[in-house]
Amino acid sequence: VPPGNLVTVLFQLGEMATATESLDGSTFEVLGAELGYKIEIVSLEDEDKELLESFDIAFEVEEDEEDLQIRPPVVTVMGHVDHGKTKLLDAIRKADVTAGEAGGITQHIGAYQVWTEHDDIERAITFIDTPGHEAFTAMRARGADVTDIAILVVAADDGIMPQTIEALNHAQAAGVPIVVAVNKIDAEGANPDKVLQQLTEYGLVAEEYGGDTMFRRVSALKGEGINELLDAVLLTADAGLDLRANPNRQARGVAIEAKLDKGRGSVATVLIQSGTLRVGDAIVTGTAYGRVRAMVDEHGEHIEEAMPSRPVQVQGLSSVPRAGDSFIVTDDDRTARQIAEKREAAERNAQLAKARKRISLEDFTKALEDGKIESLNLIIKGDVSGAVEALEESLLKIEVDDTVQLRIIHRGVGAITESDVNLATIDNAIILGFNVRPDTKARERATREGVDIRFYSVIYNALDEIESSLKGMLKPEF
Ligand code: GDP
Repeated sequence: VPPGNLVTVLFQLGEMATATESLDGSTFEVLGAELGYKIEIVSLEDEDKELLESFDIAFEVEEDEEDLQIRPPVVTVMGHVDHGKTKLLDAIRKADVTAGEAGGITQHIGAYQVWTEHDDIERAITFIDTPGHEAFTAMRARGADVTDIAILVVAADDGIMPQTIEALNHAQAAGVPIVVAVNKIDAEGANPDKVLQQLTEYGLVAEEYGGDTMFRRVSALKGEGINELLDAVLLTADAGLDLRANPNRQARGVAIEAKLDKGRGSVATVLIQSGTLRVGDAIVTGTAYGRVRAMVDEHGEHIEEAMPSRPVQVQGLSSVPRAGDSFIVTDDDRTARQIAEKREAAERNAQLAKARKRISLEDFTKALEDGKIESLNLIIKGDVSGAVEALEESLLKIEVDDTVQLRIIHRGVGAITESDVNLATIDNAIILGFNVRPDTKARERATREGVDIRFYSVIYNALDEIESSLKGMLKPEF
């Protein structure tokens, strides 16, 4: 069904959408029913499941009760800007009871683990070292739920702010329990009680008010209240979360952060979710694969193996995975490589299919000859309205065979914007820019969608090019 029709039918159904927009499954089903099609929704997950199963690898592992062992909770710190998320992550790092001379120095690898004393037992907690709900949401969007508990930081001298609410909404939507860190209690004008009151309205009721959310008053700056906060995290973990994993199997997990390092090549921090990862293991994460050549922890120390909830920086991958890509260990390198290659091919195909739908001026003649296209759709953007009008008028005067139509679907003054590109994708149009250029977003989108944008600074040149392509594309007579 041509994208334009889809948009029209959607519009009639009361849904304003462009052809490149994402819609939810139920909208697709209604759309399909309306057009007389049966819609089958296949998620990327389903596709990947099929791929893995073709290699005899289970998409999700099922564990026997008796193989499960307790694992540390994984925590993300969220909250409004400047409320002290970064400072708190620093203070927590310093509170590590195992921090010796070497332990004191930490490196940013995207996540770290600290040890804390809880009921006379030393226990570990893993922190995602990228504060904020943006990273959290981006990972979830990729299907990766890594966070067990969220620490919501609220500055006592500022109270709840828009991003406080946003963050707690995201955590609640993900079903992740929240521990509130009322920060900056040392600051002038700090009013921790007010924070407690304010958050009751959002369903976070403190224990002292009869609720079950743990609030801890801290000063990230002075390092006060940090142990109590860590205690609250472990209490929350023990109270309602069944945080267990089987360490005795091939490792699986998620890539948290990755980059290309000059000397070491691709370095990716992965969080182990089950099993144990060892140096020498063959792994695949997203479209990156390889053997684990070395593993480095948050202190920069080389380690040989990593157990569930442990973040480690892995060296030896063929390329840089994306945050949120899952990883699995495979029996051999070949399997890892084949899975990665199949995923890459699937991605490339999806990209190509997208770009192939669009048309360039050069493709036009051919499409017309094949009887596939009868009109050339144009969008004109120019720096001054006089030029846009002049160009439009002259274009409409081009004389062509009446089987071919030239349609100017949109015109305007100013830079070529993303919405122009959107329109072009829907109506398969070509964009003419007269003394104007696309902004960055528009350019990126056009490249991604395969939209042809042409630039002119002389009206005659534009006319000449369009005319010859229109003439060249006249339907051959039989
Ligand atoms: P983020 O944007 O949430 O990561 O906030 P930062 O951690 O960068 O902190 C913002 C500012 O608040 C910095 O100037 C910190 O020094 C300051 N700050 C953070 N925690 C505290 C605290 O406990 N007390 C006081 N007085 N200032 C703090």
